[in-house]
Amino acid sequence: MWDSIWINAHLATLRAGKYGAVRRGALALAQGRIAWIGARAELPGEPAQLAREVHDCEGRWITPGLIDCHTHLVHAGNRVREFELRLQGASGEECDHAGLGPAYTVAQTREASEMELVRDASARLKRLMDEGLTTIEIKSGYGLDTATETKLLRVARLLGESGAVTVRTSFLGAHVLPPEYQGRADAFVDLLCTQILPAVAQAKLADAVDAVCDSAGFSVQQAQRVLEAARALRLPVKLHADQFSDSNGAALAARYRALSADHLEHSNEAGVRAMAEAGTIAVLLPGTHYFLHQQQLPPVGLLRKQGVPIAIASDCNPGSSPSGSILLMLNMACTLFGLTPEEALAGVTRNAALALGLGATQGTLEQGKDADFALWNIDEPAELAYSMGANPCAGVVKAGRARA
Ligand code: FE
Repeated sequence: MWDSIWINAHLATLRAGKYGAVRRGALALAQGRIAWIGARAELPGEPAQLAREVHDCEGRWITPGLIDCHTHLVHAGNRVREFELRLQGASGEECDHAGLGPAYTVAQTREASEMELVRDASARLKRLMDEGLTTIEIKSGYGLDTATETKLLRVARLLGESGAVTVRTSFLGAHVLPPEYQGRADAFVDLLCTQILPAVAQAKLADAVDAVCDSAGFSVQQAQRVLEAARALRLPVKLHADQFSDSNGAALAARYRALSADHLEHSNEAGVRAMAEAGTIAVLLPGTHYFLHQQQLPPVGLLRKQGVPIAIASDCNPGSSPSGSILLMLNMACTLFGLTPEEALAGVTRNAALALGLGATQGTLEQGKDADFALWNIDEPAELAYSMGANPCAGVVKAGRARA
């Protein structure tokens, strides 16, 4: 007998990255997994005889639980002063001089207690979870010393402890240069590879290692050293690549068989082709593109042509994407990048799961996968990408249990 069965629902299964819609469907769960999925008419009996609990979804849609596969959720404070100053005409340099910019977040984050970080990140996480989110990736990268980087990753792990959401952590020591290493990027990369990353790995705090390979971050050579160090520790890698210039980041990510290469506004065709061959997922971040008024669009046509799966994420961070909404990212992926609503939804389900190495258990509604799904008050799945600022989420099931 199944634990529960969900009837009178339309299912967007997202199998193979398409809606894969099953109208008047049914979904049966057992031991936290999907035990049966299909048309209600094909159920092998009466629901009440098949499962201990029967849930009437009253014609709602069910999608896989949403996945935000790129966030900097754990950080202290915000950058609202910088936001205001910039809109009064201040340059980036002037903001840095005023002690704002990334250095401000690093200083605040180093000072913050673990409890304060948990409190602030929990509030951000709750907003995402209220929108049907069941899995999130959280990066470090605002500590840039061993004590603070491990503190951030411990906080991220803690956020997943209740089981209400799956948390995957990434160590992003190569994010920005800390103030004490200005002008000494190679020395900082030494520190990352020989001290901070080994400490993080020893404490088993990171599921993956990330680096920023860009004109505004680290060079290909520097990023490569971080990826080598990760490989030596047998940790999967990913990369912030080519956001502000073509730094051959996409090709570098592919060379290291990265789970994902993220941003990609300036990536070239050879890099995209290499990603396709390596199975590296493209993660596009429309919130950042919007907030920074970026002009260059990511190479969506090339990604489609080469068959690179596209994921969409919030990049939630105080400097360039102070976003609390994954649903808004669906809308922006369509309006800014020209994705179809179907591609956008696949981007926060199936393809986001692939970008985290979780494709076997998450991201689609299929028998045997985790029973992680969201219920929606919508008439068709495209509505999730159509609305700006609406939240039609009517409930979330995580590992087979309805989340309060
Ligand atoms: Fe990022």
